[in-house]
Amino acid sequence: MSGDIAEEFWEKAKLEILVRPVCQSCGKSFFSPQVLCPSCQSNNWEYTESSGEGFVYSYTVIHRTPNSQFPSPLVVADIELDEGWRMFSWVTDALNKNIQINDRVKVAFTSFSGRKLPIFELQGESS
Ligand SMILES: [Zn+2]
Repeated sequence: MSGDIAEEFWEKAKLEILVRPVCQSCGKSFFSPQVLCPSCQSNNWEYTESSGEGFVYSYTVIHRTPNSQFPSPLVVADIELDEGWRMFSWVTDALNKNIQINDRVKVAFTSFSGRKLPIFELQGESS
């Protein structure tokens, strides 16, 4: 095994594709990438592309960010993706759009600190 197990995640992010580990034994998605599936301890998992769509499970507003690289205030959310996995990320323009729990979001990508970082944008009213 070479490199770290998150390498493919960042390689795909460069192409603006969001992926997550999907266990080939039990079928569950999980995050963050780790050697063993947290549900069944199998090491047989593969990165699979995500729709990048989900909703705000919870969020917090950070008014004092660690340094000026970060937008301020910064909204950090626990996003639940439609495939049933969760990741922490930023939600852009969240306060202007009056972010609420359960709001629909979709992945977007931003350049940050030399990497493409998956972040999320609030979607409009669902039709
Ligand atoms: Zn599993």
